[in-house]
Amino acid sequence: MQIADVQDDIDRVLLTKEQIEKKIAEVAAQVDRDYADKNVLLLAVLKGAVNTLVAFSSQLHINAEIDFMSLSSYGDGAVSSGKVTIRQDMSVDVRGRHVLIVEDIVDSGLTLSWLMALLRERGAASVEAFALLNKPSRNKVHVEVKYPGYEIPDEFVVGFGLDYDERYRNLDSIAALKPKVYEGDHS
Ligand code: 5GP
Repeated sequence: MQIADVQDDIDRVLLTKEQIEKKIAEVAAQVDRDYADKNVLLLAVLKGAVNTLVAFSSQLHINAEIDFMSLSSYGDGAVSSGKVTIRQDMSVDVRGRHVLIVEDIVDSGLTLSWLMALLRERGAASVEAFALLNKPSRNKVHVEVKYPGYEIPDEFVVGFGLDYDERYRNLDSIAALKPKVYEGDHS
C-alpha cells in the first residue's frame, strides 16, 4: 500500500521549517526582554495558531501562562466580515493581565483588531500581538502588531497550523497547494 503524503499536494514552499523557527526564536528573544518584569499571558487563537504557540512558547525563557480562544468570523467565506463570534472563550480573567496574542496570519486584520479591542474592554493591563504571517496587500484595517513575523503575498497558504478544509495543519512548512487540490471544490 502506498503511504499518503501531504507533501504530494504542495505546489511551492513559501517558508521552510528552518525559516519559521528562526523568526520565532527572534521574536521569543525580543519578548523575553520586553516582558522580563511582567507576567505574560499567551493567548492563541484556535486552531491555526497552535503550532506557532507551541514553537514560540518553548523558545521563551520567561514564565508564560497559556490560554486559548476559538473564534469564527462570518463572511462570504474567503473574506472575513469582521463580525466575529466566540466559539470557545478563554478560561482566564484578563483583568490586569499582560496579554500577548499569538496569531497564525493577519489577512484583513479584522479578527485580530476585534480581539485586541475585546481584551482591552475586558480590562487587560496591556494587549500586544505576535502574528507569524501577514498579507499586507489584503489588510482592510490597520492593526498594531508589535511582533510581526513574515510578510507573504496574496496567496492562500497552508501548513504549520494553517488548514485547507481541516487538512495540511501538520505540514512543517508554509506552502501553497497545487490547483488540483481545489478542483471540484466550489464551496
Ligand atoms: P482576518 O480577520 O485577518 O481576515 O482573518 C484571519 C484568519 O483568516 C486567520 O486566522 C486564518 O484562519 C484565516 N486565513 C487568512 N488567510 C489565510 C490563508 O492564506 N490560509 C489559511 N489556511 N487561512 C487563512
